[in-house]
Amino acid sequence: MKSLASKLRETLEYLELIAFPSNPLPIVLREEPPFYGDPQFLFAHCPTDFSQDEYRIHIGNLDSYIKAGAPYHAHVMLEVNDPDFGTRGVPFTEQETFLAMALHEVRHRVQYHNRIDLIDHTHTEQTGRCHLWGKMQKKHYQNMLGGAHEFDALFIGHYGAYELRRDRLKTEGDVRKLLFITPSEFLNREK
Ligand SMILES: [Zn+2]
Repeated sequence: MKSLASKLRETLEYLELIAFPSNPLPIVLREEPPFYGDPQFLFAHCPTDFSQDEYRIHIGNLDSYIKAGAPYHAHVMLEVNDPDFGTRGVPFTEQETFLAMALHEVRHRVQYHNRIDLIDHTHTEQTGRCHLWGKMQKKHYQNMLGGAHEFDALFIGHYGAYELRRDRLKTEGDVRKLLFITPSEFLNREK
């Protein structure tokens, strides 16, 4: 059976090849635990030298890290006519969890390398199915350093997990569009 780290790495490699085919970043697996307070899986960005950027997966205790995140890996962007609507917090499948985690980190790369406009709560609140999610997240991120980047990356992860469940990420083009989505493209998509 494949380890969680290798499944996560494969998802990340897949997204990197779609988003940055000529320049995928290294994915470094480390045995030692992350620095205190750092996540086990991250996009390590060097603002003064982008060529130093890499993804890091700290493989020790990765399973308990993913288990601890499970309550947050749940669908809350359900559509009103969705058969799951009403049962708030439908858990992600394992595939959705890895996709959400990897989308989040690759979106961070897109944010910094492509300087895109970030999606924030003023956008999510204009939509039917994302407004509640945006309201909940806004509280956590509005006063945090880098909070705007976190909100946007977390959004892409959750949104992508739901799009996967509803079979709307069929092609590499669909995935690429999601990774580079702008606020106006998002609002058009949700009309
Ligand atoms: Zn993040």
